[in-house]
Amino acid sequence: MIPASVFKGRNVALFGLGGSGIATARALVAGGAVVTAFDDNPESVARAAGEGVSTGDLRGIDWSAQDAFVLSPGVPLTHPRPHWSVELAQAAGVEIIGDVELFARERQVHAPDAPLVAITGTNGKSTTTALIAHILADAGRDTQMGGNIGRAVMTLDAPQPERHYVVECSSYQIDLAPTLDPSVGILLNLSPDHLDRHGSFENYAAIKERLVAKSGLAIVGVDDPDCRRIADRLAEAGRRVERISSTSRLDDGFYLDGLALMRAVNGVAEQLATLEGIGSLRGAHNAQNALAALAACLECGLSLEEIQAGFNSFPGLAHRMEQVARKGRVLFVNDSKATNADAAERALSSFERIYWIAGGLPKDGGIETLKSLFPRVAKAYLVGEAAPAFAATIGEATAFEISGTIDKAVDHAARDAAGDPAPEAVVLLSPACASFDQFRNFEVRGDAFREAVRSLAGAEIMGSK
Ligand code: ADP
Repeated sequence: MIPASVFKGRNVALFGLGGSGIATARALVAGGAVVTAFDDNPESVARAAGEGVSTGDLRGIDWSAQDAFVLSPGVPLTHPRPHWSVELAQAAGVEIIGDVELFARERQVHAPDAPLVAITGTNGKSTTTALIAHILADAGRDTQMGGNIGRAVMTLDAPQPERHYVVECSSYQIDLAPTLDPSVGILLNLSPDHLDRHGSFENYAAIKERLVAKSGLAIVGVDDPDCRRIADRLAEAGRRVERISSTSRLDDGFYLDGLALMRAVNGVAEQLATLEGIGSLRGAHNAQNALAALAACLECGLSLEEIQAGFNSFPGLAHRMEQVARKGRVLFVNDSKATNADAAERALSSFERIYWIAGGLPKDGGIETLKSLFPRVAKAYLVGEAAPAFAATIGEATAFEISGTIDKAVDHAARDAAGDPAPEAVVLLSPACASFDQFRNFEVRGDAFREAVRSLAGAEIMGSK
């Protein structure tokens, strides 16, 4: 845990007592702050009190005596409307911050030179964060990973000069981290998301831009126009910027050429690494993540050999195009995280001959946008509530069956794929749907797929999960 010493002896109000909220409250207490913590859910308040956090209704405290208000990133700061606790803090002129801000201040005070790689973007944050942390740790660096992935940031080990932090930041966390100044900031991409919480795309993009605006080195994916503009603005302001692209050659920056990761300086390009044979980083979207990781790890002083070794041994993240088993020429891939058509498109684009398990709780628009990829689908196995609608969209375009459940779909897809003469056939769970009709969440759905696959006779298990 990182004791939040910057508020030693000060009064801090805190709202939001989920897992990261309790961890943050405990870090504040450990640092010597006088904390009053609260949540709208009485059970969460009781649990926090049981863990030794002092709680109290924030409607009843003396706000003029508070030095800071720490808000959970899950609680609305601005949209659809500020939470009542935010309004109370604002009325009293108390600064509103989150756990990433506490972390940033602790680092600034105790170990400002501790390398901090912070990652944001609409998609690919977790993969890129996990990849960078893996490469650094594999190269023997003292590495801590957390934030919006894995451990809450204040539960990491305390900053020390040689300790590397790799921190995934959601837009909500950046919004609550006004002084966050990573040594390396990564903005992967921008597309409309979470607009209910940010009011507009402009506001969402402006928040994401803040992460790279104060970075020692800004690494910006320039495959979308908003990020291109941000990279240009930073460069014009004299900031250090590295551009990355997985779709076009750059004269200056990192880009993909086939499976080669290239770097160009003043139009002169050289190959730095390759994604050849790395199953956990298939697809153009993962190339974007790998290019960002390459640029970040070079900035941290790693050699190309160390970075390539890290790519080669990266196990990938669970539920994101996770390779779970192989049986003969058939590969089984768990992409349960693909809860909408956009995400499923990336997995479908990454393989040639697919036995596709899809369905669940349908989302607006269904799978209309995936039609151009149907030629890659040898057969679809439809599950859950979306099955009839997906069947209607597929129509005559390719073979399908309504399997109903993941277990049955795995069974039938494995049987059919085994008879496919292609050099590699893939049984792919990429549902393009939420999971809540049959599962608690996408992780439980992915676990069910993995288990069904691994219980097939003759399946060779891949990965460590
Ligand atoms: P995040 O943490 O931003 O949600 P993840 O790394 O968990 O992102 O990936 C979630 C899904 O987004 C993956 O299953 C994949 O389909 C897609 N994805 C991953 N990286 C990218 C990227 N760089 N660009 C677009 N989509 C991506």
